[in-house]
Amino acid sequence: MEKRNLRVVKWLASTPAAGECTQCRLQFSVPLPALQRVSDAQESLRKQFTEHKCAGTDKAGTDKTDKAGTDKKETVRA
Ligand SMILES: [Zn+2]
Repeated sequence: MEKRNLRVVKWLASTPAAGECTQCRLQFSVPLPALQRVSDAQESLRKQFTEHKCAGTDKAGTDKTDKAGTDKKETVRA
């Protein structure tokens, strides 16, 4: 099992405003409406974290992207 954790990297007072995955370093930010409640902010971060896929940790077999050799993706620049 992969072990990844959500780490809060930005706080607004006691509200988590941004977090990152300790595994792939992907960052998540809480949308403004959710910042008004600590519980909403926490849930938003957790949801984004739970739903994201860590880059570079794809398991062979579950994700078949090798169709006809057109798997060169150069569009992943932030
Ligand atoms: Zn990740």
